[in-house]
Amino acid sequence: SIPLGFFAGLGGASKQGVLIKGGNYLEALNHVETVVFDKTGTLTAGVFKVTQMNPMGMDETQFLEFAAYAESQSTHPIATSIVEAYRQVIDSTRITAYEEIAGHGIKATVDGKQVLIGNKKLMTQAHLESEEVETIGTVIHLAVNGVYAGYMVISDEIKENAKMAVTKLKQQGIKRIVMLTGDHVGVANKVAEELLVDEVYAELLPDQKVEHVEAILGHKSKDKHVVFVGDGMNDAPVLARADIGVAMGGIGSDAAIEAADVVLMEDDPLALCKAIEQAKQTRAILY
Ligand code: ADP
Ligand code: MG
Repeated sequence: SIPLGFFAGLGGASKQGVLIKGGNYLEALNHVETVVFDKTGTLTAGVFKVTQMNPMGMDETQFLEFAAYAESQSTHPIATSIVEAYRQVIDSTRITAYEEIAGHGIKATVDGKQVLIGNKKLMTQAHLESEEVETIGTVIHLAVNGVYAGYMVISDEIKENAKMAVTKLKQQGIKRIVMLTGDHVGVANKVAEELLVDEVYAELLPDQKVEHVEAILGHKSKDKHVVFVGDGMNDAPVLARADIGVAMGGIGSDAAIEAADVVLMEDDPLALCKAIEQAKQTRAILY
């Protein structure tokens, strides 16, 4: 039978906006050694704004139109920001092919032209040279019919409570705090430095995030747990693989919420600290 105290603990956690799928996970939160965070949408708001446009061989209007059309079917935060910057209604009959390439970007056919939009890796894959840009934002490149067409800079912000969450986790005895991201190494290092996370790995594909978590699981201490916290955009496999998968519930995808063991309703990384605190208190009641 399940001790009643666990239900009390789960109830307390849910009042704090934390949904825990069963008493086992609440107990497990008492033995966390490592917390691995995804960056975009988890430690950063994932609300991007187009802050710079550098078209080549076309004007800004045309550049933004290709970009917005190619991104219009994607739910990625980067895509949303580009479509918002365009401010016009999308005529979806002009898009005749569409493919999302995880961790890279989008390949779409717009007005019969092949449009590639995404990071440097996507351009390199298509054997295209792209501009080297020094910026703290995320650089998104565009190519039309195999010709490089310039880049735009998209900026995201660190969440208000992210730094406090990292500090608090350390106070709660978490030994190691890691950040994984598909984003460029320059942006990743800047965020990691500001938040004081211990380790950062950038430019990762979803599969490589799983590999990193597996490596961490392989080296953990006996009876200790590894937590992965993600917003769910391409994160479902990692959420499932970690000892305790924590999803941001507000912006998280259904797949992520399904794969997760703990859901943070407020999309606030500090809620994880509250869940750990709740686990400690529940323990104090029980034993
Ligand atoms: P994170 O690991 O930080 O949560 P993602 O894995 O979702 O980020 O994305 C990694 C990178 O892949 C982005 O920073 C961007 O360069 C590129 N990318 C992913 N999806 C898109 C998209 N729809 N449009 C443009 N670029 C994208
Ligand atoms: Mg993410």
